[in-house]
Amino acid sequence: IYDLELMKVGKVYDNGTTAVAEFDLAVTKGEFIAFLGPSGCGKTTTLRMIAGFESISSGDMMIKGVRMNDVPAQRRPTSTIFQNYALFPHMTVRRNVGYGLAVKGLPKAEMDAKVDRILAALGLEDIADRKPERLSGGQRQRIALARGLVVEPDILLLDEPLGALDANLRKAIQNELKLLQKNLGVTFIFVTHAQSEALALSDRVVVMNQGRVEQISPPHQLYTRP
Ligand code: ADP
Ligand code: ADP
Repeated sequence: IYDLELMKVGKVYDNGTTAVAEFDLAVTKGEFIAFLGPSGCGKTTTLRMIAGFESISSGDMMIKGVRMNDVPAQRRPTSTIFQNYALFPHMTVRRNVGYGLAVKGLPKAEMDAKVDRILAALGLEDIADRKPERLSGGQRQRIALARGLVVEPDILLLDEPLGALDANLRKAIQNELKLLQKNLGVTFIFVTHAQSEALALSDRVVVMNQGRVEQISPPHQLYTRP
C-alpha cells in the first residue's frame, strides 16, 4: 500500500486555467519527493490539492489507500510548511509549536511532552519561551518545521521552504530535513524551482512543465537537456 497516490489528477481553476493535467504518482512511506519545474508549471497547485487547500477537478488522490478527494484539509494526515513560515507573532515558540495539538484538545501533559521532544529534535529548546518576531529566518523555519511535525503527519508538504534563506542557512536546513526524514520515517513532498535543491534532497524528482509531468526519476538518472 502506498503512502500517497495521485491517479490522473487534474486541476482547472474557475477562470478556465488548466494548472495540472493527468498527474500520476505513487509514493512509498518515508520517500523524499521533489516537484521541480519553472514558475507556473503547477507545483504549488498539486501540493495544495494534496493538502486539501484546493479541490481536485479530475482523477483521484489516495493517502494510505483512502480516497482523499472529498476529505477536508484539517482531516487529512498532512502538514504544510510555507516559505513565509506563517507563525503567530504574538505567541511564544512553544505555543506556536503546540498550536496544532491544542486545537485537537490534547491533554496538557501529553502536549508538553510531544512539544519538548520536537523542540529538542530541532535544537529549539533554548528559545522555547521567545517570540518569533525577534528570531532569525533559520530559527523561524525550524519552528515552522517543528509545528508541522509535532502532529505526527504521514506526509509533510513543503512549498519552497528554503527560498527566503541565504545559501549557508539553506544548506544547514537541507541537512536537517534529510536527518528528520531518516529519523521520523515521514514522507516528504518538496516543491522547488531550484534543480540543485531537488538533486541534493530527494529520492525521486518529479519534473513538471506546463501542468504536466515530464519525468519521474532518482536524481542520478535524471535526464537534463544538453
Ligand atoms: P508561485 O509561482 O511561487 O507558485 P505565484 O506568485 O505564481 O507563486 O502565486 C502566488 C499566489 O497567487 C498563489 O496563491 C496562487 O495560487 C495565486 N495565483 C497565481 N496565479 C494566479 C492567477 N492567474 N489567478 C489567480 N490567482 C493566482
Ligand atoms: P508553480 O507552483 O509551479 O509556480 P502554480 O501551481 O502556482 O505553479 O500555477 C500553475 C498555473 O495555475 C499557472 O498558470 C498559474 O497562473 C495558475 N494559477 C495558480 N493559482 C491560480 C488561481 N487561484 N486561479 C487561477 N489560476 C491560478
